[in-house]
Amino acid sequence: MNKDMDSPEIRPTRIGHYELGRLLGEGTFAKVKFAKHMKSGKGVAIKILDKEKIFKDNLVDQIKREISVMKLVKHPNVVELFEIMASKSKIYFVLEYASGGELFNRIATKKRLKEAEARKYFQQLINAVEFCHSRGVYHRDLKPENLLLDSELNLKVSDFGLSALPQHLRQEDGLLHTTCGTPNYVAPEVIGHKGYDGAKADIWSCGVILFVLMAGYLPFDDSNLMYLYRKIHRADVRFPPWFSSGARKLITKILNPNPKLRMTIPQIKQDAWFQRDYKPPKAVEENGGNLEDVNAIFTITSISEEEHLISKIKDSKTSKPAFFNAFELISLSKGLNLSGLFEKQPVDKCLYDFHSSFSLLKICFLSDQKIKGELHFTSKHPVHEIILKMEETAKPLGFDVQRQDYKMRLHCAETGDTGPLSVATEVFEVAPSLYMVEVKKAGGDSLEYHRFYRNFARGLKDIVWTNELELDNELST
Ligand code: AMP
Repeated sequence: MNKDMDSPEIRPTRIGHYELGRLLGEGTFAKVKFAKHMKSGKGVAIKILDKEKIFKDNLVDQIKREISVMKLVKHPNVVELFEIMASKSKIYFVLEYASGGELFNRIATKKRLKEAEARKYFQQLINAVEFCHSRGVYHRDLKPENLLLDSELNLKVSDFGLSALPQHLRQEDGLLHTTCGTPNYVAPEVIGHKGYDGAKADIWSCGVILFVLMAGYLPFDDSNLMYLYRKIHRADVRFPPWFSSGARKLITKILNPNPKLRMTIPQIKQDAWFQRDYKPPKAVEENGGNLEDVNAIFTITSISEEEHLISKIKDSKTSKPAFFNAFELISLSKGLNLSGLFEKQPVDKCLYDFHSSFSLLKICFLSDQKIKGELHFTSKHPVHEIILKMEETAKPLGFDVQRQDYKMRLHCAETGDTGPLSVATEVFEVAPSLYMVEVKKAGGDSLEYHRFYRNFARGLKDIVWTNELELDNELST
């Protein structure tokens, strides 16, 4: 039996199929406990969040979004989210257990790491960060507590996705609250509160982490917070003598206080010091984010807490939206002249603009499709974000939403001249990271439908790459 479960002072509690064990750690928002799957005996870490806190701080939508992203992120150097459960008052994240503990414990015991070992962890960190950025997820709070090790001493970054949570609150509470975490890893522009690029801020933190691994102490430190911030803004790094010139050069370019001039991940990966003994990560499996699960954890209210497990959230399925290739798109537009793929058309009807195969695609459909009530927009956001945003936009417009995989039905409670308005939507994949959303009138008045579509499109403007309304404007100017 695992010693984690044997400790005499622990009375195991069940959460779903898991037996809870000892406390692994505690963060601002959550407790993390070891747990064991009762059938398989597999060890996991369960992160327990308080729902009341989440509701009180208006974080429900943000958490839903973050969870759906976490469900998508599967990488050998990122702690995996296996499943989510909820009770009336708590949310439980069942996570991959990082049995090697925190990376920085190794510095505590060894004082500092040899350059080769530090490089290995830095390479794994950059791989994890690069992967998450490519999925639109920024950590924003990379720090020692979030760097864990598995049993084979591979780096596992935790809290990717959930990290925006404490960050968000701290921003509301003001800067001094950062003292409850550690401000030493934060980029100067984050301290400046000017709004910042999450990717650049994460890269800065990676630079600080690399310095600490090799030096055994922080590059910017001061007991007085104002002096500390001044040091961070100046980015005046003093290297200890054992740093090689390659490491110095790389860290100096990462710790550039100007985010625009700071090294990017592709540049870091091309650096000669970085490339030494570099092993690219193994192929990554991907899950589809199932938002119904995510929504469910917030709607559980009726079952008593004593039952412990109120709702078991299924693992996300490996489903994907239907594929819709560009030529099917073309066939949708009767009379389209294919030369429009390569040169600008006299745009009375339709406009295609292709760059680098399908990656940049603007679509517009013929007006006869509009008359039929079919409208489309494209988005480069992850599919689960598109669906969540559509749901969030339709509800305040007075629509009930029913969802099945990548299709939705929106029903309006109010009855128009020709019955209640009903709208069907479906998300199609056009190219990697490019989706087309089809919005069709399924019932009700056409004028009302077009009015709805205008409001709907306006609400979706943050995720829409291009749509008929924009093209209408382009055509009329
Ligand atoms: P967090 O709230 O994520 O910062 O977690 C608090 C502490 O719990 C961390 O600093 C770790 O020591 C521990 N912890 C969190 N997640 C895991 C995990 N997946 N495996 C092992 N320990 C963890």
